Amino acid sequence: MSLRNVVLLGATGSIGQSACRVARDLPDRVRIVGMSGFRNMPRLAEEANRLRPEVLAVPDAEAEAELRTKLDYAPAKIFTGEEGLVSLASWPSADMVLVAIVGTGGLRPTLAALEAGKDIALASKEVLVMAGEMVMATARRHGRRILPVDSEHNAIFQCLEGRDTRHVRRLILTASGGPFRSWPGEQLRAVTRQEALRHPTWRMGEKITIDSATLFNKGLEMIEARWLFDVDITRIDVVIHPQSIVHSMVEFVDGSVLAQMSHSDMRFPIQYALTWPDRIAGTLPPLEWAKLGKLDFEEPRYDVFPALDLARQAAERGGAASAVLNAANEVAVAEFLAGRIAFPRIWEIVAAVLDSTGGTAADLDALLEADREARERASVLARS
Ligand code: NDP
Ligand code: MG
Repeated sequence: MSLRNVVLLGATGSIGQSACRVARDLPDRVRIVGMSGFRNMPRLAEEANRLRPEVLAVPDAEAEAELRTKLDYAPAKIFTGEEGLVSLASWPSADMVLVAIVGTGGLRPTLAALEAGKDIALASKEVLVMAGEMVMATARRHGRRILPVDSEHNAIFQCLEGRDTRHVRRLILTASGGPFRSWPGEQLRAVTRQEALRHPTWRMGEKITIDSATLFNKGLEMIEARWLFDVDITRIDVVIHPQSIVHSMVEFVDGSVLAQMSHSDMRFPIQYALTWPDRIAGTLPPLEWAKLGKLDFEEPRYDVFPALDLARQAAERGGAASAVLNAANEVAVAEFLAGRIAFPRIWEIVAAVLDSTGGTAADLDALLEADREARERASVLARS
């Protein structure tokens, strides 16, 4: 039995909160040594007072002052700013960093953690979509692992364990289909923020919930899988599975398929990533098969939800195309959430930005430049 010392980036979010629960339930296995929050200082203080991490990171001095008034213990250090996240991710006593910051804000801390010799438990798929090649190469160079927390990738990781990847024919990602799975396409123009935020099976942060409604979440996950498992994008398929019980599957060359199943509760993949390679008898509920009744599978409606084809195109183009797709999507989702654009504009804006922007992935600066340019174009389009 080994205790893992974990830094938790994004402790105040949906994944962060589930990770805190896992740590509280398994105190002999997981010790949270560092935590970050962004806007929600009351929640950061609450979790910090319970789990007493040595170090914390917040965006600025004002947040630090607010946090200090709420803490009932004295941490060794409170870091501030983007550099603070990098320092937190490289904190000496940590073995592993769980990256659960929404968007690409997790990229620099992820690279810093790998360079400091930490393993990564990765929830922030945007990090691999933006810079998958670079992140995986950095992990290899430092002999570190990236353990997937995203439920689909955690499922595939479990199905692949101990197998020869040459025997894999394809990876099959399951998707709930989101709240508009069976809506007529023409009704999607009138979708409200509230309707889009009502996910049928998962309770998550706002950005990923909108991504699940457009199916960009699955598009981003195809690209994430391409890098995590080093599989060509043409061998990654998507099937709609509304119950979210089968989290993904691996089909082998002989036609056999392995699937991983559990309730749709992110504590399953989080616990597995934090305690891997062990399986810990925890507090998570097993499936009751007779109550489940049936599991359904359907073909995605590619024409109504163009996000899957756009993601495939971006992956095939290579270079900075996936970073561009991701950046344009982040801006478009924020514009939709702010009530400034209609729901289908998210696809239209991403498609237009992807068409008009090139860029290489030569190094981090080139990727950041492509990301910045794509954000600018997407903002202009959202306002036109
Ligand atoms: P949330 O919106 O619930 O949480 C986001 C976290 O990131 C919060 O801790 C937030 O802090 C912090 N944060 C936001 N902006 C910044 C920033 N600019 N710099 C530093 N920290 C920031 O998101 P989720 O937990 O739902 O998702 C997190 C990541 O995990 C996403 O990449 C998502 O795609 C991925 N994921 C999530 C799943 C889920 O079930 N929720 C499933 C699979 C993947 P604060 O709240 O204090 O402002
Ligand atoms: Mg997922």
